[in-house]
Amino acid sequence: MFFVVIAGIMWNPPDRADRGMPPSERPVATIQVSLHSSIPKEGAPPEKDVGTPTDNGAAIAAPRAVTVTIMVDKELLADTEKDATILQIVSLMHETSERFSHNFGISFFYTVVPWDYLPGDIEVDIHNALDDVERQWTVQMSDITVAVTKKGLYHETCSKAETQLPCQKSYKGGIARVLGNSAIVSMHMVTFHAFLHELGHVFGAIHPDTDIPSVMSSTYSLVDYFDENNKAIIMKYRERVFRPKNIP
Ligand SMILES: [Zn+2]
Repeated sequence: MFFVVIAGIMWNPPDRADRGMPPSERPVATIQVSLHSSIPKEGAPPEKDVGTPTDNGAAIAAPRAVTVTIMVDKELLADTEKDATILQIVSLMHETSERFSHNFGISFFYTVVPWDYLPGDIEVDIHNALDDVERQWTVQMSDITVAVTKKGLYHETCSKAETQLPCQKSYKGGIARVLGNSAIVSMHMVTFHAFLHELGHVFGAIHPDTDIPSVMSSTYSLVDYFDENNKAIIMKYRERVFRPKNIP
């Protein structure tokens, strides 16, 4: 049996949030989502340590709780559609959580905070933006940070000098470092596939050959499931450590 709990949604919580926190870390909303947890029946035997098989054949051990800070570009929070935008982002993240929970037993607990990055720019270099997200992340914040922006995210490719061709920009829906703890998703991607894809990278998933249907395809197709190889990779890394806990 599965259940979904959404608790403690707060918009601009007064007092509590503003004390002692830099602006970028003040919560806009706190949403805790626990997905697909089994409800033990009274008198039922204790759950096995090894876990139970799922319909994809993977054996899922105890649920893995992962905290996520969703950094929302302040420009998305500035207009009158702010509340609708936050709800849209939260619902995309929610759908992503459901998929991760269903496939890998990973549940996301997330908080929304503002992200102040190059206000006024309509497009940014995707790698510089990811660097900024990583700089904003602190050990206290969460396991993972996912930034959401309405800016165009481009990757620039420059030819060798002797060809004298101008640099070419290609626009991306998002980026994450494989086994890193940060990701960026563009709100130009209106489905949850971008969240699923980038969080897949955070758990080690890689781009498969182009003929393999997968949400991890580099073409950002609308396939909404993981290929078998990436499922195995994510299961392998579901217990990965995010924080340098051993470093004081
Ligand atoms: Zn990718």
